[in-house]
Amino acid sequence: MGEKPPATADLLQTAAGRLKKAVPLMLKHQIPTTPINYALWYTYVGEQQPELNKALDDLVAQYHTLPPVSGELLYREHLADPVELDVRDMRQNLEAMATELGNQLKDTNLDATAFQQKIDANFSRLERIDNESLSLEQVLNLVRTLVKESDAIRESTSYFTGQLAKAQQEIDTLKRRLAESEKDVFFDALTGCLNRRAFDADLAGLLALAPEGCCLILCDIDHFKHFNDNYGHQLGDQVLKLVGKRLTEACRDGVKCYRYGGEEFALLVPSSNLRIARQLAEGIRRGVEKLTLKDRRRDARIDNISASFGVAQWQPKMTARNLIEHSDKQLYEAKRLGRNRVMPISG
Ligand code: GH3
Ligand code: MG
Ligand code: MG
Repeated sequence: MGEKPPATADLLQTAAGRLKKAVPLMLKHQIPTTPINYALWYTYVGEQQPELNKALDDLVAQYHTLPPVSGELLYREHLADPVELDVRDMRQNLEAMATELGNQLKDTNLDATAFQQKIDANFSRLERIDNESLSLEQVLNLVRTLVKESDAIRESTSYFTGQLAKAQQEIDTLKRRLAESEKDVFFDALTGCLNRRAFDADLAGLLALAPEGCCLILCDIDHFKHFNDNYGHQLGDQVLKLVGKRLTEACRDGVKCYRYGGEEFALLVPSSNLRIARQLAEGIRRGVEKLTLKDRRRDARIDNISASFGVAQWQPKMTARNLIEHSDKQLYEAKRLGRNRVMPISG
């Protein structure tokens, strides 16, 4: 048995802690908020790579910022394969930070309002001074002081609020950019489905946290080679896109669709059962059967697209590999029995 994964709340707390350090540092050194820079400073504040920290310190000491090319070189040297970066973790961290900043912003606005109320109260008190025994000069002095103080405080408060708003904007940009880079890492460029990397991560995650009722549907396009051979690779790609789209459209209630390999797709169905997963596959099978595509070059309509499906449900003690093997065996049966079908027949 592996170690228990840390609770989400703990992750968020660590996250916020790290971000509180990383983002201000980036702002201070005027580092552009690119995913690469963010990754560098995130690692920097994590203090796990002393060589990277020293290199960054030296560069910042020399240039008072981080020159872009040096940043990229450092990134390549110390953080190696960009897809190895835990982009999801970073995104979660950003969200925690954004929430944190949002709250700070609200607090500041509240403070500013409370302060304003205090000033207003003071002014109304001043109105009554007429009736008291202060000289006109004394009253005027009082007013002058009050106005001066309130302006100064109001200015610094609004400066602080402005700073926070700016930081919040930076965070939003970071979030957007990270979401884009996450798209590259976890999505298949051709079909837009999640990719194999995402599949491996998600399946492992599901089996570690909530394996009960988890089902896997493997889907393989029938005689796909025939489309490539008869109509060309480009049309083959079109078929893949179309099937990928159809599968993605069927994803509800936490079901996720992945391009598993060349013309194979996988659907992960969390907390369900074999019968429901089979029904889902059957619905998709019928949908795929109806897909049509126009081959412009020959002015022909392709209407013989179909796919075979193998479904399996997780059973106690099964590993990810076991579950894939079970689905694959069923997929093989579906092919053997003539394709364009879902196996097992019942569940
Ligand atoms: P079966 O019904 O048994 O699954 O037959 P099949 O022709 O679908 O299976 P096979 O494994 O023989 O062929 C799959 C083909 O898919 C071979 C490969 O060239 C092609 N392929 C894999 N990835 C891509 C891709 O991204 N684009 C295109 N156009 N073809 C691809
Ligand atoms: Mg295949
Ligand atoms: Mg195939």
